[in-house]
Amino acid sequence: MITCFDIGGSTIKSARARSAGEIEIIDRVATPLDDFQAFASVLAERVAADRGRTKGVSISIAGVVDPASGSLKCANIPCLDGRLIAADLERVIGLPVRIANDADCFALAEATSGAGKGHRNVFGVILGTGVGGGLVIDGRIVAGAGGYAGEWGHGKALQTRVGQPPVEVPHFACGCGQSGCVDTIGGARGMEKLHHLLCGELLSSTEVIDRWLSGEARASRTIDIYLELVGVPLALTLNIIGSSVVPVGGGLSNVPELIAALDNEVRGRTLRRAQSPLLVKATLTTEPGLIGAAALGLQEIANV
Ligand SMILES: [Zn+2]
Repeated sequence: MITCFDIGGSTIKSARARSAGEIEIIDRVATPLDDFQAFASVLAERVAADRGRTKGVSISIAGVVDPASGSLKCANIPCLDGRLIAADLERVIGLPVRIANDADCFALAEATSGAGKGHRNVFGVILGTGVGGGLVIDGRIVAGAGGYAGEWGHGKALQTRVGQPPVEVPHFACGCGQSGCVDTIGGARGMEKLHHLLCGELLSSTEVIDRWLSGEARASRTIDIYLELVGVPLALTLNIIGSSVVPVGGGLSNVPELIAALDNEVRGRTLRRAQSPLLVKATLTTEPGLIGAAALGLQEIANV
């Protein structure tokens, strides 16, 4: 058995996993943000309840772990930022600890028991409030140098002249310090910003999508430009990494028409002419972080 955690800036969710298909939710509690001892105690108490049965701890976290140093970058949880997180937790808990980025865990979950099952090269994409990604090859997370592999959401990737007829779309500043990143347009907030830029209307992404689906001209223009802006860098990413399936998660993945339209855009731009969809809705829609963490722990600690 593995004790697994899905840790975000507001909540710690915990579960025990006997196998990838046998995951029992323990509970969810608020994340201690500024006190590492309090944070470690939350985990240690849940592990103690399974003492003697659990072989270790695996964690999905909204942060990036440098595989070389073990140092965690996690702006949302100050008491963890810069910490050698696995080593520090192992000292408190007394069991092996494995930790991975939440988008990587999402990709691992989809690759092992979701929409990517049976594929050797799986690129998991999150289209949520922002944009994320994780790469899994032969059932293993590819973290890459610094832990950043799969982060297609950042870098000056967006075109500025886009659509038919073309329109100028400026490079918006991104939280990573650059501008013109996919993350500034590709998520729900980005779609809203794009619609406001193009049409002068402040609508939620849900409203933009509903109007697009009903054939409304302004929303259709926004989505056309959104698809081109996001589809170009995603097709380039797939040319480079060669994935044969792209499970899509996050809030925007709940709109099958949007996933199908983005798939069509991407498949029209990749060198490989895939005959079946590349982008597919993720199948593990409840607790992908815990399922991914469980897969990581079972693979690396329990050797299942
Ligand atoms: Zn960025």
